This record gives sequence, structure tokens and C-alpha cells, in this order.
Amino acid sequence: MQDSSSFIKIGVDDTDSPDGMCTTYVMHKIIQAVGEKGGKLYGFPNLVRLNPSCPYKTRGNAALSATFAVNAGDERKHFDVATDIVLKLSEISHPRTNPAVLMLKGRDVPVDIVEFSRSAVKRMLSVESAIRLMKKHDIAGMAINGPRGMVGAMAALGYDFPSGYTYEIIAYRSEGMWGKPRIVDRESVIKMDMQTRSCTFDNYDYTSSEIKIAPHTPCPVLVGIRAIDYQCLETALKSLKFEERVAGYRIYKTNQATDDHIIPVAGIEQIEPYTSVTIEATVKNLPKTETGGHTFLYIEKNGRELRLAAYEPTKQFRNIIMQLRPGDRVRVYGSYNPKDGEPETLNLEKIEVLEVAQYGRLSNPVCPVCGHRMKSEGKEKGYQCPKCRYRMTGPKEFKPEKRVITAGVYEVPSRARRHLSKPFNLAVKK
Ligand code: ATP
Repeated sequence: MQDSSSFIKIGVDDTDSPDGMCTTYVMHKIIQAVGEKGGKLYGFPNLVRLNPSCPYKTRGNAALSATFAVNAGDERKHFDVATDIVLKLSEISHPRTNPAVLMLKGRDVPVDIVEFSRSAVKRMLSVESAIRLMKKHDIAGMAINGPRGMVGAMAALGYDFPSGYTYEIIAYRSEGMWGKPRIVDRESVIKMDMQTRSCTFDNYDYTSSEIKIAPHTPCPVLVGIRAIDYQCLETALKSLKFEERVAGYRIYKTNQATDDHIIPVAGIEQIEPYTSVTIEATVKNLPKTETGGHTFLYIEKNGRELRLAAYEPTKQFRNIIMQLRPGDRVRVYGSYNPKDGEPETLNLEKIEVLEVAQYGRLSNPVCPVCGHRMKSEGKEKGYQCPKCRYRMTGPKEFKPEKRVITAGVYEVPSRARRHLSKPFNLAVKK
């Protein structure tokens, strides 16, 4: 057994661009290269999804880390191996790609780095705060095109899965296939989904007939299968049929589907920009679907109002929102990304209907003489029947609407779900 001075942790972030690459692939290659130089991967590499509201992200805001057992004195050699891979593979010609690699010596992570990591999933952090930690803990680092990637690389180093964890096996394509269409046999995906359902999730969207495991980006990933445990993953991958060779694969421990990004808040005034929250509130008005198919609704809490949005890609989830009525008690989950000229809006991920209110319309009473609907004579002046002219006073009649929605949980379809968002029925390990 080697002592703790012979462990290193490598963190990497921001290597890809919309044109290509994937930080998981970069880490996969680092693990291979460090392995060739005698470093031994310790445990699973971590695939950490950071704040999904971060405006700098390219796609899923992933950052990666891995721990290695190395010969004491070889730490710098392995760091150089990692930086060479990052330099070789990153999309550095893209100005918004700011790759960073960090190396922390030892296996135990200082508490302030763990806290930094936990915050990076929920909030926005500064580059300066990452650099302060680097100096304090003698962390070796390299950044290209600017220091921004340091935030994600530092967050990956210290993440301790406070809300639980899941796994993902990622299969990679050979380089000649990058950017070409992925041909994945649909039947084999459905069969794999049926056979591994107690372990894997999000393989196939049966509503839209969409294969969920294959991305649509020009990156090196062929497929990724997610699971609550890792034992089922290799068999699941090997049961799939592709029209190309799998160039390699790796299992990552992840915070996907854990809801770790969600901050519970008691009041609307506590919601900070670029965060995701959950709040209990009352529906304020009737929902409305506007141009573009986006559905909006206001909630109210302690005299403050907030707009909720179920955007067009959330498809059938919008029908649930359209069934809500003023007075319904709800717990909502969503992110707040301020946009110029738009009201403060929470982009909904899921909703729990706690209490369905009695809702209806007030209308003038029916004439007790001839049965026609009466007309109001003015405020507090009573009613007159337009047919028989009968006059009377009294309260308006309440016509209750038959409510269709019931108390329960409702979420966006899996194709619109954020990586971090936990499906209500998923039993994530802690
Ligand atoms: P991937 O495609 O690998 O899923 P991504 O490409 O969407 O991830 P990156 O390209 O890694 O995202 O870019 C995200 C950038 O934002 C990185 O530079 C990272 O350091 C930075 N970042 C991530 N989370 C935060 C945060 N909470 N606060 C500040 N900066 C952050």
C-alpha cells in the first residue's frame, strides 16, 4: 500500500467547443497515458456536472477528475503527461474554449476545495477564488486561452457527491468517425433498456421514439448509458449493435440525476440569478401558451410574484401546466437565468402539485321565473331577466370547473431533462 504522498488527483475542464471534442474523452486519454507511465487509476474517474445555469458552458457543463496512485517523486511527470494530452486534444483554436488542468497531491481533499466544488454545482464562482485555492494548497496548474477553465477543474477535484451519485459508461468512436452520423440499432437499444431497467435509465424515449444514449454533436462519444449502479453497464453496452467499431469505453461516477444543483428557498426574493431552486407557492393566474409554443404561468408567495415557463421543447409537460388554476398549491423546481427585457422567469424542470384548489367562474343567477340567465343591473344593484323582466338581488352563482389535474409529481420528458435533474422515481444511491 502506497502512502498518501503517492496519490495525485487530476482535474480537467473546458476542452471542447460546439465544433467538437468532449472533456470525458480527454480524461479517458489522460488515464490511458498516465497508466502507460506507471500511474494507476484509483477508483472511478468523476464526471461532475456543474451549475447548469452557467452562461459559459458549451453544452452540459461537465468537468472531470481522476485519482491515481503513483510512485512518490513522479507526480510532476504525470501532470506533464496530462497537460500534453490536453494541449493535443482541446479545441484551442476556439476562443471560448479555455482548457485547464490541475493537479492536487495526496488522496484527501482539503475542506475548502470540497466546499468550492459543492458551490460550483449550485452557483457562479470567480476565477480568482479558484486561483486562491491553487496557491493555498500548492496545486499545479495549466490553462490555455485564459484562466476560466480553472473553476471547473478545481470543482472536479473536490467534488464529494453530497446528494448521491450515479454512473455512466461512455463508449468512444475511432477518430475517423468523429462528425459522421451515428448508426445505433434501435431494436438493440430497446432490448437493452427492457433488460436492464432496474439499473439503467434514460436509454429510450418511448413517447418520441428517440434513442437517448447517442448524442447529436460532432464529438468522440458514440453512446453513453446511465445507471444507478455500475455492475450492469458493461453488459448493457456490449448488448448494443452499431455500424462501427467501439474504440474504447470507460465508466464514470457522476452527479447526474441527483438534483444536487437545486437550492431550496423559502421566498421568491431569495432566488439568485444563475441558480436552480425549489420553492413552494400558490398559482396566481390562468396559464397561457404564447407564440412559439411556450407556456407561462405566475406563482405568488408572500406578496411577490414570479413567472414560470415551460418552454416548447418540454412538449407534453406544457399540458400539465395548462391545467393549473389560481389557488393551486405547488412546489416548483427550475432555474433562473435573467434575460434583458424579460420578466424574472423560472425555467421549469418539474413540479409537484400539492393541493388542487376549487376553481370556477362566478356568473349571474338564472331567472327563477323563466330560467333565462339574468343580467346585472350594475354593482350591488341586483339582476334583471332579459326575457320576463323579473328583478332580484343576491350573490353571483359559483360554477365550479371540473379539475382534471390531481395532486402528484410531474416532470419534463427525458429529452428535455437537464443532466443534473433527478427523475422523481429514480432511487439514487447516497
Ligand atoms: P461539456 O460539453 O464537457 O459537458 P461544457 O462544454 O458545457 O461541458 P465547458 O466548455 O467546460 O462546458 O465550459 C464551462 C466553463 O464554465 C468552464 O470554463 C468552467 O470553468 C466554467 N464554469 C463552470 N461552472 C462554473 C461556475 N459554477 N462558476 C463559474 N464558472 C463556471
